[in-house]
Amino acid sequence: MTSIPVAPAARREQAARAAVEHGLLGPDQPVVGLLDVAGIRAAAAGLRAAFDEVVAPGTPVLHAFAVKAAALVPVLRLLADEGLGCEVASPGELALARAAGVTPDRIVLDSPAKTVAELREALALGIAVNADNPQELDRLDALVGHGTPPAAPLGLRVNPQVGGGSIGALSTATATSKFGVALLDPGARAWVVRAFTERPWLTRLHAHVGSQGCPLELMAAGIRAAYELAEEINRTVGRQQIDTLDIGGGLPVNFASDEITPGHREYAQLLRDTVPGLFDGRYGLVTEFGRSLIAKSGLVLARVEYTKSAGGRPIAVTHAGAQLATRTVFAPDAWPLRVTAYDAQGRPKAEGDGGPVLQDVAGPCCFAGDLVASGRSLPELAAGDLVGLLDTGAYYFSNHFAYNSLPRPGIYGFDATGADGEVRFATVREPQTVDEIVAESGAKHALGLSRLR
Ligand SMILES: *Cc1c(COP(=O)(O)O)cnc(C)c1O
Repeated sequence: MTSIPVAPAARREQAARAAVEHGLLGPDQPVVGLLDVAGIRAAAAGLRAAFDEVVAPGTPVLHAFAVKAAALVPVLRLLADEGLGCEVASPGELALARAAGVTPDRIVLDSPAKTVAELREALALGIAVNADNPQELDRLDALVGHGTPPAAPLGLRVNPQVGGGSIGALSTATATSKFGVALLDPGARAWVVRAFTERPWLTRLHAHVGSQGCPLELMAAGIRAAYELAEEINRTVGRQQIDTLDIGGGLPVNFASDEITPGHREYAQLLRDTVPGLFDGRYGLVTEFGRSLIAKSGLVLARVEYTKSAGGRPIAVTHAGAQLATRTVFAPDAWPLRVTAYDAQGRPKAEGDGGPVLQDVAGPCCFAGDLVASGRSLPELAAGDLVGLLDTGAYYFSNHFAYNSLPRPGIYGFDATGADGEVRFATVREPQTVDEIVAESGAKHALGLSRLR
């Protein structure tokens, strides 16, 4: 981080003020998403450096950004500029990666429910595919045909069943996870070995152990299990048939402070210590980090429309709720967010004479649970102030939830590293208009139901 003169928190404050000055939010645009370009670049460079430090020289490494963490074409392009590829899990995500100019050799397709058409397209384009289950392997058999090796690298996802983390919904390596071939189930391991023996074109093994909430040791244990399986398969077939291990993503993010912990470097070094053979040059590597590359570079800014009190409880009604912070609203204990208070000009709000006040920060959605924070100690908010939801760069404002037909907010990247103190903005996505909402909600079929009789 030493190459960036201004610390992330200072850049964030500059950006909040500048966003108001530039009119990116105001009475007509009461909520906006901001992305710190320097932060994203630093995270991507840090990831590459972390693995460069541990792999044998010349090892092919593809860092494929998990597109679902920020499904925004300019973000994918920025990451591609920084040397990253894309991990995609749907035709939409694949199209976004291609629109960003990411070439097929730098794209990996995972998803538990790929259709035949999706598989055929991926193979035709030369995109790496990780099959999820035996039935998908059967489909690949039919598509690959006999004799001709496929143009795309093909692999199999396994579930090492090492257990879950603190967030069940994001733990992919539990005994009963829906992902991959469950390796410890009776007969499964022998089946996997046979599947590779019978398919010389199957050259990769994939394991994504979990996401937020999984301890690093658990993730490393899962990668170790995948590595040991690859070794067993290669021994059985008598050659290095598995030439690449895809170790997934899942590095957790610290949502409690500006500290970046754990870092990619810590994880890479833990992997080196836990699975030394992984990095000795016999295996190419694919990683699929999402959240850890971008979460800390995102900020939602929302206007406080009203403040009120109910049953003695102060409530700030803002324009950021479940439509943006979906996980936080529906699972507040698993996904707490830091909230900051700014005045109407985007300057950090000072505490009043009485000190901070315990407040609820509510969103605009019409259900009682639409709160991004409850009983949070903040300077007393007033109508017209702004609130900031920190660390929201991944999985928040890019994955909109269309409740109440609330529009997707505009998203802008910012650069606050200039020596002149100026903050420059670039549009990532324009705010959605009401006309667009009406059009995508069936406007052209308005009479469709009435005419059915
Ligand atoms: C979601 C996902 C990732 C990214 O997970 P993060 O926690 O965002 O790093 C990587 N690989 C697969 C297969 C995934 O489903």
